[in-house]
This record gives sequence, structure tokens and C-alpha cells, in this order.
Amino acid sequence: MDMGIRDKVVVITGASSGLGEATARHLAQAGARLAIGARRFERLDAIEQELKNYGGNIIAVKTDVTDAQQVQRLVDDAVKIYGRIDVLLNNAGVMPHSPLERRKLDDWNRMIDVNLRGVLHGIAAVLPYMQQQMSGHIINVSSVAGHKVRPGSTVYAATKHAVRVISEGLRQEVKPYNIRTTVISPGIVATELPDSVTEPDIAENVRRMYEIAIPADAFARMVAFAISQPEDVDVNEILFRPTAQE
Ligand code: NDP
Repeated sequence: MDMGIRDKVVVITGASSGLGEATARHLAQAGARLAIGARRFERLDAIEQELKNYGGNIIAVKTDVTDAQQVQRLVDDAVKIYGRIDVLLNNAGVMPHSPLERRKLDDWNRMIDVNLRGVLHGIAAVLPYMQQQMSGHIINVSSVAGHKVRPGSTVYAATKHAVRVISEGLRQEVKPYNIRTTVISPGIVATELPDSVTEPDIAENVRRMYEIAIPADAFARMVAFAISQPEDVDVNEILFRPTAQE
């Protein structure tokens, strides 16, 4: 069944695992044409080969979202091959939680670089194409932590709050170009995200929190829902979490 996804050109950052990978699989099955990016190229390559074997249209491009030129290359490659870009899923992210008093400056900077600068690099890369096309859809990934902050999650929550602000500012600025914007805020979903915690005791707490995690396809279905709306309908925000989550 064509759910308004078939043939859409979708670029996904952070597609080597978790939510990005699940979305690539889901959208490939629905007939989207994909360009997937992340740093771990061997994993991207394996996903590309597997989905191609099922008849999917997909390219994998090694991409570090902290480098604006690499994000631009991912988007440029998609446009070169498919002739256009319909959707950017700005998904790459890391979550090395820790209390501020531990002064984990490297972790703070990494969160700012990936979760915040990475999102802006994606927006910068696609806007000229989408403005010229007078169509497009930018989906940014925030979090329940983009709605509330808890001890130990301050910097992560700050980046995810910022993603929501950027999404709303973007929405207001790009609607004259018929570009849609969606921000998706997941709760606890089973992915490799807890592995990005660098403090062993915090990592243990996070793993316990993740015992109620729901499968990553829940997120992919939210993306598919937003993408498959008619062009004059813009799903601005989706917040979801496991039923058991606080
Ligand atoms: P994963 O750790 O499974 O996936 C994160 C992805 O981001 C990986 O593909 C990783 O690929 C990529 N990534 C990390 N750093 C970079 C970088 N510098 N450049 C490019 N890609 C990078 O976690 P999730 O799938 O859960 O995370 C996806 C998004 O969802 C994140 O933004 C996260 O904050 C958000 N989120 C997740 C929740 C959850 O419970 N899972 C809840 C709320 C939000 P590689 O290492 O190969 O580069």
C-alpha cells in the first residue's frame, strides 16, 4: 500500500544503529529511496547490502555530523543519485549523562557537537535544495529530555530543549517555501544509546532505566506517520514513551 512514502528521498543521519537503522528498514519496506549516514561505515554498508537484496534503493555515506562538509556530502550524494531530497531525519545523537559536578567537559562538548551542531549542519545542508524545490520535510529528534530535566541529564536535556526551539523557529521560517518540520521526542526506546554513557555508575543506572524500553520500530512508525501525511498537513511535534515510563 502506498502510504505517501513510496519513492520519497529520505536522508537519515545516525542510521548505523537504533532509531535511525529501524527507520531505514521501515521506510525501505515502504518503498522510500534512502541515503544513510553515520561514522561506523561497516555497519552502514551491511544495512545497505541487506536492504538492496530486498530491492531497496539505498546508498550509505560515511558521515560525521560534527563536520558540516561531511553532512553536506551526504545530502549532495542523495540529490546526485535520486535527483531531489524530500525528507531529512536529523537523528544522530549521544547521551553521556553525568552530574555537572563531575566536570565531564569532553562529554558536554560532544553532546553539543553531535546533538546540536549536527542538527544545524543537517538543516544547512538541505535548505537550499528544499527552498529551490519549494518542498521538503525536516524531522529533528529531540527527547522526553527535551521537555524536562533531571539531575545528571542537564547538558543532554539542554541540547534536546534546543532541538525543539530550533524546530519551531525553523517551522516559522521555512513555511513560505512549503517545507514541513517535525520534532519527535521519544521516551525510552531500546537502542545502543546507553552505551554512550562514559561514567560506569551512571551507565548502570541508565541500563536499569532501559529495562522498560520499547522496540525502535515504534519510532520508525512515528516517522512514517509524519511523512505520509498529505503535503498541506504538517505534524509539528510527536511525544511518545513506553506506557510504563514516568
Ligand atoms: P544509538 O546509539 O543506537 O544511535 C545513535 C546513532 O547516532 C548511531 O547511528 C551513531 O552512529 C550516530 N552518531 C553518534 N555520533 C555521531 C556523529 N558524530 N556523526 C554521525 N553519527 C553519529 O541511539 P538511538 O538510536 O537511541 O539515538 C538516535 C537519536 O534518538 C539520538 O538523537 C537520541 O538522543 C534520540 N533519543 C533516543 C532515545 C532512546 O531511548 N533510545 C530517547 C530519546 C531520544 P556512529 O556511532 O556509527 O556514528
